[in-house]
Amino acid sequence: MEAMNKKAKVYLVGAGPGRIDLITVRGLELIKAADCIVYDKLVNTGLLKYACPDAELISVPKRIGTESFKQEQINNLLLEKSRQHKSIVRLKGGDPSIFGRGVDEAGFLSQAGVEIEIVPGITAALGASCYSGIPLTDRNIASEVIFVTGHEAEGKKLTSIDWNLLAKFSGTIVFYMGMENLSENVSRLIDNGKSPDTPAAAVANATLPSQRTVKAALSTIAARCETEKIEAPALIFIGPTARGDIRLEWLNSLPLFGKTLVITRDAQGNAEFAAKLSDRMASVIEMPVTKLKALTDSTEFIKTLSVIHQYDWVIFTSCNGVETFFAALSKLGKDSRVFSSAKIAAIGIRTGDCLSNFGIKADFVPEAFTSSQLAKGLIEFTNLKNKKVLLLRSQIASDDLPQLLEAAGASVHNVPVYTQEKNLCDFKAVSQNKIDWLTFASPFAADCFFEQAGADFVKKTNAKVASIGPVTSKKLAALGMKIDIEASEHTFDGLISAIEEYELALSK
Ligand code: SAH
Repeated sequence: MEAMNKKAKVYLVGAGPGRIDLITVRGLELIKAADCIVYDKLVNTGLLKYACPDAELISVPKRIGTESFKQEQINNLLLEKSRQHKSIVRLKGGDPSIFGRGVDEAGFLSQAGVEIEIVPGITAALGASCYSGIPLTDRNIASEVIFVTGHEAEGKKLTSIDWNLLAKFSGTIVFYMGMENLSENVSRLIDNGKSPDTPAAAVANATLPSQRTVKAALSTIAARCETEKIEAPALIFIGPTARGDIRLEWLNSLPLFGKTLVITRDAQGNAEFAAKLSDRMASVIEMPVTKLKALTDSTEFIKTLSVIHQYDWVIFTSCNGVETFFAALSKLGKDSRVFSSAKIAAIGIRTGDCLSNFGIKADFVPEAFTSSQLAKGLIEFTNLKNKKVLLLRSQIASDDLPQLLEAAGASVHNVPVYTQEKNLCDFKAVSQNKIDWLTFASPFAADCFFEQAGADFVKKTNAKVASIGPVTSKKLAALGMKIDIEASEHTFDGLISAIEEYELALSK
């Protein structure tokens, strides 16, 4: 009952200009805690993955013209939700107080007696400026900046924009909603005396991998935008700074900026890989063609758990193995004490790091990426003669590792912790995209991908193929694929570096 009495609060939150991690910390915390999120079309829906699984998520249609009815509907919706929920986030693109109806909504709610809070966001102009190398002010050439709407409310009798003042304005003018009336607005400025040679720029999809910038003189910017097919959402920058500063164009020097990569691991692995690629401003299409299935319910696994302390060495070969193992352990009400004094080895630093998340410091973590490197390293590190070794890994792993360890005198027990299964994906949407790279991190993923996509997928899309290492490449070759690059370090970072190097070489 107590919770029921708690007053509802509506948070008007600025989501930032596009890229999801450009939201404020407070904004993100409120999203995580919300019972209900009402979001606009411009908001990056990637933010919604941070919402509680049972939060009510409502998309409201883009505002069309001045239809006050639509706005009234949104106001009433928010009022209704404030009666059903305790913590409501009204998520707006950019900053809620700039050219949105955010403040109207907040005002309406406040007047209706609903508690509100307004959380600022990075407005599109700030995002576009930082991501396109067009400073908003410059000590030498622009001491003022002005944000203007390029599209005033329809039906508004008198324009409130002072075109005469704008024509004289010597700083940076930024038009929001700039595309629809671009040529009319340019003409108004020039008619009022602005030089046709004034530098201008359009920045569309700012801060996203799809960001595009076009620069031209004021007199030709509209035509350039048309030929370059610049579409909303876009901002128009006008003034001396719109020429840009090439030294500030950091985005263009990211080799994967604007490239589209298809990633083909299981959903969890893809999420991790996607985050790394998004950091580099690449567009990512996640195709989880495989899915992980835990095998920890098997009697063999459960029996092994009770005797794990009798092994001399326990070997983990992947994060998937580590995570599945510890999830099962915890479900059975046990913890890492089951290992007792058994020594633990992990293939690669990442697997070692995963173990440390569970409080285990591995005794041996070779800088190895393959089973045979691990085996060689372990044999050099310790005498395995008559030692009992337990392998906790995927069911579809190769026999190399156990064979090499046995050859060194160990008695090896191989207990599968998980396996990968084929996962059906929707390929329709993918084949309509421009794809630059297809990436493969395991032979099984390659199999599952081409089984669904068809052998002619590469030919049809003209995509390049990147492989994480020789085992995956061998499978790709067997499937008839030409491999454009193979990572020399067989990790995701290695795969990304290899693609980056390829793109860099190409752009030179
Ligand atoms: N409150 C928002 C603006 C809403 S008006 C803010 O503070 O950013 C919508 C306009 O914002 C669009 O027509 C476009 O001009 C601009 N805009 C929003 N996101 C943008 C983006 N990622 N890239 C370029 N312009 C953007």
